[in-house]
Amino acid sequence: MAYQRLTAQHVDDLTGIVGSAYASQASEILHAYGHDYTEDYQFEPEIVLIPANADELAKVMAYCYQQELPITPRGGGTGLSGGALPAVGGVVLSTERLNRILSIDEANFQVTVEPAVINQELRDAVNEYGLTYPPDPASKGSSYIGGNLAENAGGPRAVKYGVTSDYVLNLEVVLPDGSKFWTGANTLKNATGYNLSQLIVGSEGTLAVITKAVLKLVTQPKHSLSLLAAFDNQRNATKAVNGILKSGIVPSALEFMERDAIDWVMNLMDLRVPVQDQVAAHLLIEVDGQHWESLQEEVESVYEVLEEYGSSEIYYADNDQDKQKLWHLRSNVAEAVHANSIYKEEDTVVPRASLPELLEGVKEIGERYGFKSVCYGHAGDGNMHVNIIKGDMPQYRWDHELKDGIREIFELCTKLGGTLSGEHGIGYVQREYMDVRFDAAHLQLMRKIKNAFDPKGLLNPKKVLPDRD
Ligand SMILES: Cc1cc2nc3c(=O)[nH]c(=O)nc-3n(C[C@H](O)[C@H](O)[C@H](O)COP(=O)(O)OP(=O)(O)OC[C@H]3O[C@@H](n4cnc5c(N)ncnc54)[C@H](O)[C@@H]3O)c2cc1C
Repeated sequence: MAYQRLTAQHVDDLTGIVGSAYASQASEILHAYGHDYTEDYQFEPEIVLIPANADELAKVMAYCYQQELPITPRGGGTGLSGGALPAVGGVVLSTERLNRILSIDEANFQVTVEPAVINQELRDAVNEYGLTYPPDPASKGSSYIGGNLAENAGGPRAVKYGVTSDYVLNLEVVLPDGSKFWTGANTLKNATGYNLSQLIVGSEGTLAVITKAVLKLVTQPKHSLSLLAAFDNQRNATKAVNGILKSGIVPSALEFMERDAIDWVMNLMDLRVPVQDQVAAHLLIEVDGQHWESLQEEVESVYEVLEEYGSSEIYYADNDQDKQKLWHLRSNVAEAVHANSIYKEEDTVVPRASLPELLEGVKEIGERYGFKSVCYGHAGDGNMHVNIIKGDMPQYRWDHELKDGIREIFELCTKLGGTLSGEHGIGYVQREYMDVRFDAAHLQLMRKIKNAFDPKGLLNPKKVLPDRD
């Protein structure tokens, strides 16, 4: 695909739409909007535009469509698969000024937001009404609802409450040609035509730009309790995950951290929990609900299962300070890995009962390719973040052989009935592995869908779908 390069006339016209304060070609701005949180990738856009509202955004899209300029939509820039990278230059279209909570409909448990509302700000606002928006990616303090929708973000509480797509009722979207429409209805049920809302969710900014969202809310649970359970081997820890769910308890979080993850984060945060030498992995478990007594009963049942699967030590947190400490440790594992080494993160997901095989397989592949890995994640969903650590792996092997090792990890996921990404998306980085999961006919259908929304291929180029040979 040949894209037009930005001319002085384009700059004048686009500046005319958003205003000179919100169109920038300053090198530090181009640099800042040229990366996200995905390892060390950096691209330079030709201009950054920050429209004030959906109408301005639609005008920018219509102009770029007519002029054949590529556009990369951007939310909070916390993506881990490179979805917001301006891989072919062109325009970065930042949604950051579309940041209002437009209405909270207490009677219908709904909220209408613009895309740049930060996840935590939405949660705080609806909490005042005794309601909550459950999807809570660990990046909730900085990622936007628009980015969460585009990536179908999950998070620790997905095991009980589901992921972003489970909370979407209706979306206002702008297509690449600048046309704007609502995809659904503000109803809990909808059997009217193709479900475009769910097609847009998780499409990583490649089909349309989301400019408003109507989201479902639930009652805020009054109480929660957390447990940190230590295991001397990883297999028992991952098997206990199914054991807990089989007992009939659905925890509001069921997270796995292998030993290095907790050690690294404790060093980074200067926070401590007692960890015996022989411990190989931890499960962080949270239960929540409206009634304190029934929560205590649930915790007792969880204790029994943990003991049955050989947990050597269980740390119990029932007050806010202790709970925050445990969640601080879990939420900062990604930062700790980042601080410790050059790494690559894969967002593997398998049917939950296959987690032991996934973990053992990843370690075996690592031994053959000469890399170490630190694994942690949302074990209750079978979603394991595999952080491949460069450590002292020779640069040549890292540059030239690692790709084959990653491919083997994805082949293993597929063999176990899983797939390439559970919540971070494919973006720029994982698209070269899409053939592991999808055959040619499946990829061709996806290309046709992309083409129906974006016939000129201008919206978020080089994302999700692999290049054609
Ligand atoms: C420390 C850390 C922890 C994380 N933990 C989690 C976790 O627990 N669970 C999880 O799922 N993810 C997690 N992430 C990944 C990331 O935060 C999510 O993918 C998040 O949803 C990205 O949101 P964003 O606003 O930063 O989007 P960006 O990174 O800006 O963009 C992501 C994608 O969305 C597209 N996009 C953005 N806004 C729009 C819009 N309005 N319309 C259409 N497309 C749009 C972009 O083009 C891009 O493809 C974590 C990231 C970090 C750094």
